[in-house]
Amino acid sequence: MSADATDEDVAHVVEKVESVGGEAFVSKGVLRTIIGLVGDIESFHHLNLRTLRGVADVHRISDPYKLVSRQHHAERSTVWVGPVGRRVPIGPDTFTFLAGPCAVESAEQTLEAARMAQSAGATILRGGAYKPRTSPYAFQGLGVRGLEILADVREATGMPVVTEVVDARDVPVVAEHADMLQIGTRNMANFGLLQAAGESGKPVLLKRGMTATIEEWLMAAEYIAQRGNLDVVLCERGIRTFEPSTRNTLDISAVPVVQATSHLPVIVDPSHAAGRKDLVVPLSRAAIGVGADGVIVDVHPEPETALCDGPQALLGTELRDLAQAVRLLPEAVGRVGSGERAEGA
Ligand code: PEP
Ligand code: MN
Repeated sequence: MSADATDEDVAHVVEKVESVGGEAFVSKGVLRTIIGLVGDIESFHHLNLRTLRGVADVHRISDPYKLVSRQHHAERSTVWVGPVGRRVPIGPDTFTFLAGPCAVESAEQTLEAARMAQSAGATILRGGAYKPRTSPYAFQGLGVRGLEILADVREATGMPVVTEVVDARDVPVVAEHADMLQIGTRNMANFGLLQAAGESGKPVLLKRGMTATIEEWLMAAEYIAQRGNLDVVLCERGIRTFEPSTRNTLDISAVPVVQATSHLPVIVDPSHAAGRKDLVVPLSRAAIGVGADGVIVDVHPEPETALCDGPQALLGTELRDLAQAVRLLPEAVGRVGSGERAEGA
């Protein structure tokens, strides 16, 4: 309340709060009175408390997201990806390495990229069958044919598959072929798609919108959770800033910030963050150091012919350096590789 608020003003606020079923706790200080409200936030909104006489300011203390918040779920969650018997964990005890081509281009290219990923220590295969391209003239992905290739490569390698879904209408067919649905940065606020993914019965990898605040990102996760699906993994993939030397600016601090406020696992995509292969290894090391639950990285057998994001794809020396970082560093921060914790491992 403002310094000049009267007892009458305070009583009026208390009365209003009680009229919608809330509780109001008044604490009188030497200079100011603070009223703490407990109850249904939505009903408090309708009271327009800021307009009442004597009210100086209104602050929300509880998180606006409930299901993904740590306030009611103190333990951090582990999300399991893949068929029962060979599921791979993503969570606080392990470090999970996901890798694969940006786009599925052919059966050979996908299998070769998957083998590269697997020999570098990756336990989950990534690859886009539907590509959300900024330009409508760019390669849009192979669609259902791409999903079939991913399903074949999963059989050949035993790696569970994560792939992006860009349209709510495609959720059933993607869920039929993949082990985890990815929602990309350009669709983070596509609420119909989030809800459809929430009903798919498959875990969801939710990338941060490139212009989204952490709260907006967690509210997007809440849309999925609200449809009964708490198997959501968040992915920091860089945000737009004024800095042009990288494709996006990796917001590494988002990892511990999110982990403090949400129980969901958080991984980092250094490939889409930087857009440059020379930065993928250092940024992966940073991700491990800051406490990320995993990294997701683009690899390609021939980056120079890649139909999508060749400049950020790893092979050769860089991939070997990444394999070493992912093998050695997680232990230093108290984690084991996800392969060692996988079911059936
Ligand atoms: C991707 O991972 O293939 C992708 C398109 O990423 P983002 O949505 O982060 O740009
Ligand atoms: Mn890409």
